[in-house]
Amino acid sequence: ITWQGSNPSLPSLLLNSHLDSVPAEPSKWTHPPFSATLTPEGKIFARGAQDDKCIAIQYLEAIRNLKARNFVPTRTVHISFVPDEEIGGIDGADKFVKSKEFKDLDVGFVLDEGLASVNDEFRVFYADRSPWNLIIKAKGVPGHGSRMYDNGAMENLMNSIEVINRFRDSQFDIVKAG
Ligand SMILES: [Zn+2]
Repeated sequence: ITWQGSNPSLPSLLLNSHLDSVPAEPSKWTHPPFSATLTPEGKIFARGAQDDKCIAIQYLEAIRNLKARNFVPTRTVHISFVPDEEIGGIDGADKFVKSKEFKDLDVGFVLDEGLASVNDEFRVFYADRSPWNLIIKAKGVPGHGSRMYDNGAMENLMNSIEVINRFRDSQFDIVKAG
């Protein structure tokens, strides 16, 4: 879906969300996952309603609201609903971003999925799925059933985990600070 901006020569904004979802085990749900139950409090229980169709509908509702007020964006806005995100996007977004059709969109900025919110406030994350694959080799003296040693491999591994966790905390503090 494309909403033409008043200056289409500028790089565009892409609003992306995925329509696939993870498997649902009905016995673990408070409501049947395929029933799309709407509660009196206005909550929807349905497979994929939160991840990620809540984002998809927020885009469409926001645009409908803006259009009703005759708002015209400066930049062109594209919306994409993609398949197979939950299994890596190999046959979906991965192929799409390598296509001529995607290059022709001239995307300058993308908003992708996030978390649902019960109010009008949303946390914004960047680089949500930047993969950092680490192999940590923890060396140290082995343990023994009859006594304990200093400088054990597990103790040394925990030092690495604590460093990683401190970095994570510092990044999360940035998010929490807005
Ligand atoms: Zn998702």
